[in-house]
Amino acid sequence: MKKNAASPIFVSGCRHCLGDKKVRFRSFSDKAWSYLFVAGEVDFEVIGNPLCDSCYNDLREVLIDSHVEVEATEIPAKIAQRVKSLSES
Ligand SMILES: [Zn+2]
Repeated sequence: MKKNAASPIFVSGCRHCLGDKKVRFRSFSDKAWSYLFVAGEVDFEVIGNPLCDSCYNDLREVLIDSHVEVEATEIPAKIAQRVKSLSES
């Protein structure tokens, strides 16, 4: 998958809902991704991948509702590694 840091990228297909929708990369923090993964909201493969608008809004609401838990979430090493490698490419 190609990434271009200069502009949001729209590609087709959301890994989270598996819908054929316009998606783009979302700037969730590694802590946010960790919480979503630990809470069972996303599969590991979804982490760092582009999301469609409805999935993004759903997950963002989860993060807002759970911000205390999100802050307390420890970042598993494999997630830190994945987010880091995705953001550096
Ligand atoms: Zn989706």
